[in-house]
Amino acid sequence: MRTVIRNGHIVTQNPSRQIVKGDILVEDGRIAGIGEVRGSADREIDATGDIVIPGLVNTHSHVSMSILKGQIDDLPFDRFLDRGFDIDARRTEGDILAGARQGCMEMLLSGTTTFVDLYYAQDVIARAVEETGIRGILGWAVLDAQYTTQSGTPLDNAKRFHRSHSGRSRVIPALGLQGVYVCSTETFLGAKEYALDNDLLLTFHLSETRKEVVDCKNKEGKRPADYLAGIDFLNDHCLAAHSAWLTMAEIRQLARTGAKVSTCPVSNMKLATGGVAPLPEMFQNGVTVSIGTDGSTTNNCLDMFREMRVLSLLQKSNRWDPTVLPAQQLLDLVTIEGARAIRMEDRIGSIEVGKQADLVIMDGRSANLRPLRPENMISNLVYSACGADVKTVLCDGEVVVEDHRMTTVDQEKVLADGEAAARSSSDDAV
Ligand SMILES: [Zn+2]
Repeated sequence: MRTVIRNGHIVTQNPSRQIVKGDILVEDGRIAGIGEVRGSADREIDATGDIVIPGLVNTHSHVSMSILKGQIDDLPFDRFLDRGFDIDARRTEGDILAGARQGCMEMLLSGTTTFVDLYYAQDVIARAVEETGIRGILGWAVLDAQYTTQSGTPLDNAKRFHRSHSGRSRVIPALGLQGVYVCSTETFLGAKEYALDNDLLLTFHLSETRKEVVDCKNKEGKRPADYLAGIDFLNDHCLAAHSAWLTMAEIRQLARTGAKVSTCPVSNMKLATGGVAPLPEMFQNGVTVSIGTDGSTTNNCLDMFREMRVLSLLQKSNRWDPTVLPAQQLLDLVTIEGARAIRMEDRIGSIEVGKQADLVIMDGRSANLRPLRPENMISNLVYSACGADVKTVLCDGEVVVEDHRMTTVDQEKVLADGEAAARSSSDDAV
């Protein structure tokens, strides 16, 4: 199968960050040529005047919660958690599936082609991933048995999910750990051993709130990242979400061990947890940083363009320094650095020959993207673009969104199922 995207402005995100005017040849799911592509193809996509970027990478989400958006907003953090746990405990397989389908669709329609998820029931979420055609790094939630509603031992459930779903193209099993507040040293180390033996991503919440830090100091005598370094848990397969309340010593622990970070600016700001992730210090120390939306009860939207913009504004404002996080670096965080955070930078994250064809075509006729020149293209993508500018999306070379519509699933049915599931899972239904 040969697909050619013709005559676009190609933001390659290659090592020299070239922007190329021309064509992209896709063969058997991979990028086979960039520049002028001669000869016919099975499928031709006209991108004249449009911008082609690599598929975006969202490194922290709870995708099936997408149908819960708008249900638990504007609450103090403890009441937010109580309501969230309450709703979660009542969820059925059907509404988790409906939520995952809608969340995957929302991500694809706004240009995300790869996401990291942390939840239980990843076998259900995997179905939504395969149906919609997105790529999911699915971390089964592992925590101590006394805190979970999962039947059986969470780590055993995670191992079973990995064994039953390994070797698939779009579903990539991973291990998720809820966080230091519900995971013992034994749980952390058991998950680490299995992840390293099987080359799996280990993703977890880290230092999201000040309370988490204080409680960990009281229980373990150390701050969370320091504690995880001390038990020899941190390693290069780790992806730590939030990481907002870190000291310089903890940043150096992340750098030394090769652990990566998924910063979640909107979630932290919406819950008013106070900490602003110390990204400039992470960059200075060589920590790989990427961006996550978090779940739809704390964001509430999965649009990575909005996430880039908010992260930039937050960091600049917080440091009184407009030079912090310039546009090119922000685009890096959601493309090649996002890929690095999940240890897939050799396969995705840029438009280069040999990589998987994860490609997003942005509508060059959108008023918010104009005027458009190579000199302001990156700036426009970061500061004025939004998910609605995404016109066509390929994942692994397959066209999954075409002219703003899903090609893989019945969009209206996914939305209708989501509405029905949201009604049945809301507080009013009880
Ligand atoms: Zn989260």
